[in-house]
Amino acid sequence: MTARIKLLGRRFERLVVLREGAPGDPLCVVQYDCGVEKIVNRRDLLAGDAKSCRPTSVGDVFGFWTIVSEAPRNAQRNRMMNARCVCGVISIVPESALTAGLTKPCRTCRSKVKVAA
Ligand SMILES: [Zn+2]
Repeated sequence: MTARIKLLGRRFERLVVLREGAPGDPLCVVQYDCGVEKIVNRRDLLAGDAKSCRPTSVGDVFGFWTIVSEAPRNAQRNRMMNARCVCGVISIVPESALTAGLTKPCRTCRSKVKVAA
């Protein structure tokens, strides 16, 4: 077992760690000086990859998705976005998935790909 570096309350340039996940959970909630809260991987924090604050805003494009508007936060208080897929389908997508590049095309697009293949 390796000693875990405590990140809670620590400052990394323009952000402060607000919440740390339980042991085994690599995700931290951080707040940037501009007030934006983001979920980041502690590995990125320690590697210095999470220092810039780039809040997502309407019109931003992430892969297949374009942000249309902000949606109500989910039960975990994560920021959610109404996003439009390239095919026109609008879906609610977690902001963290968009910024982390984890989003896939909508179901309609995925089934189209399947049919075409
Ligand atoms: Zn689609």
